[in-house]
Amino acid sequence: MNIKTCPFCGKKTLNKINKNLTRTIDGKRITIPDVEVLECSNCKEKMFDSHAMSTIEAYVHSLSPKSKKIQI
Ligand SMILES: [Zn+2]
Repeated sequence: MNIKTCPFCGKKTLNKINKNLTRTIDGKRITIPDVEVLECSNCKEKMFDSHAMSTIEAYVHSLSPKSKKIQI
């Protein structure tokens, strides 16, 4: 999946950046280091491509194998 246009504001201002993401999983706050995300420089919305999603899922799964559903 390759997103080129921001689905939030419609501008082609997406940049690939690496970020530490904080998510709450099963009531615990965890930080997933160095996830490649797309950030819109116009509206600052962040998007995750399938590569980022699998990075997040693999990391969360390694911490908490029982988590089935991850809110991203
Ligand atoms: Zn945007």
